[in-house]
Amino acid sequence: MIENLQSFEPATGALLWEGLQGDVDTEVERAASAWPLWAAQPVTTRMEAMRRFANAVRGREDTLCDLIARETGKPLWEARMEVSSVIARVDMHISAYSERTGQKRMDGAMNSRQSVRHKPHGVVAVIGPYNFPADVPAGQIIPALIAGNAVVFKPSEKTPASGAMLIELFYEAGVPRDVVRLLVGGPDEGKALVRHEGVNGVLFTGSARTGIAINRALGAYPEKIVALEMGGNNPLILWDTPDLAAAAAIIVQSAYGTSGQRCTAARRLIVKDSLTSGIIAELRKLIARLIVGPPHASPAPFMGPVIDNETADGLGESFMALMSMGGRPLVHLGRPDATRPFLTPALIDVTQVVERPDIELFGPILQLIRVENFDDAIKEANATRYGLSAALIGGSPQHYEQFWRQVRAGIINWNGPTFGIGGSAPFGGVGVSGNHRPAGGHAADFCAYPVTSSEADQPRASIGIGLTPIDT
Ligand code: NAD
Repeated sequence: MIENLQSFEPATGALLWEGLQGDVDTEVERAASAWPLWAAQPVTTRMEAMRRFANAVRGREDTLCDLIARETGKPLWEARMEVSSVIARVDMHISAYSERTGQKRMDGAMNSRQSVRHKPHGVVAVIGPYNFPADVPAGQIIPALIAGNAVVFKPSEKTPASGAMLIELFYEAGVPRDVVRLLVGGPDEGKALVRHEGVNGVLFTGSARTGIAINRALGAYPEKIVALEMGGNNPLILWDTPDLAAAAAIIVQSAYGTSGQRCTAARRLIVKDSLTSGIIAELRKLIARLIVGPPHASPAPFMGPVIDNETADGLGESFMALMSMGGRPLVHLGRPDATRPFLTPALIDVTQVVERPDIELFGPILQLIRVENFDDAIKEANATRYGLSAALIGGSPQHYEQFWRQVRAGIINWNGPTFGIGGSAPFGGVGVSGNHRPAGGHAADFCAYPVTSSEADQPRASIGIGLTPIDT
């Protein structure tokens, strides 16, 4: 039975959007019917369509920012950053396509030429998360379309309105309606989409739990390309630094920006023991000043609510669980209004917790771990199955060199937040954070496959060895 899907504003609980759940077969069939013609266009035509898409986004920027802020609860200023990033992606992916998947021609044997060119996969499914409902899927849809694929995009069931508007903007830009399809739905539609025989590739961004389920489901389909961008249990090490106030600012940005709902957010703060009291004092001062409020409030909030009440309840339970395991709360997780999912940033010392759960707490909770020496700090940093981002604050160049060499993560920063990577740089993780198919400019690599050809104007082969003599 096809049902309606509804989306509510986290900050107010108001109904924002309602639409019919999509039909997987219909969307895949429509995309499958369209991709050969789309793929046959010159790549410059597809690039031109993407430039028109960027203009369409510019033309409706305010509406899209407002919608994202309402639907995710993130502050309007942050929604604006997200939309700017969508626009910037177009030029970046156009350059990346040429740089990473461009054509190569070489001389081959016997007057032949060798060439390497790329072909699209066909129909790719893009499955998105709720925390960046426009920018993350745009980072896969744009390179997939440039490469000549058709796309079926399933946004998160928590942010269908932003997903729907993104697809409308591709249509406004003149991308044929069957080349990019919106599939409204939740996990069931996602499951059916990845297994669908008409889907040639799956570009997924979301939790490790879902990514692993997709990987398992696709074990029987080795012919499908699968790119998994998943979460992290990201470490941030604080070592010798003269400026603890600046360190606290980096820590707060890393842990609590976007209400902690970033894949690259810092989850674990690993501190040189002698710095503990100083950094806690700085963090308390700063946390007390952070404004948590609705997206359009004035003065602008630092962070909004988390995505929904269920998520806020779950984070509250996780915080209690850490306490019951021996965690010592330094700043409590607050819930000023029990009816809405606003949470205030929390800090908990889990040094004494013997078996710390290696899970991604996707919200504003930072766990502090005290250590005596740098080797132990690195050991703690690596005590996770994830490997998305990691950062070091302070320390010497030698410390950073050791950290960079020994920490397992796809993004490793020094004296900056655990996020903050942009542009064409590869974006992805190792461990259960990703399957070695980083996005960013490197998305071009998994949106097309290379074809090697040996080509000559005339047939030239001759067999020189192993033949009986010709009868004369
Ligand atoms: P989620 O895994 O719950 O859902 C993601 C998407 O998968 C949704 O569209 C959902 O409907 C769909 N889905 C759920 N079950 C499915 C299944 N069995 N088969 C196919 N599709 C299915 O993630 P979320 O809560 O929406 O997003 C937050 C997560 O995303 C966090 O873990 C975060 O770290 C991660 N994330 C990662 C990146 C990155 O680039 N690495 C970026 C943003 C978010």
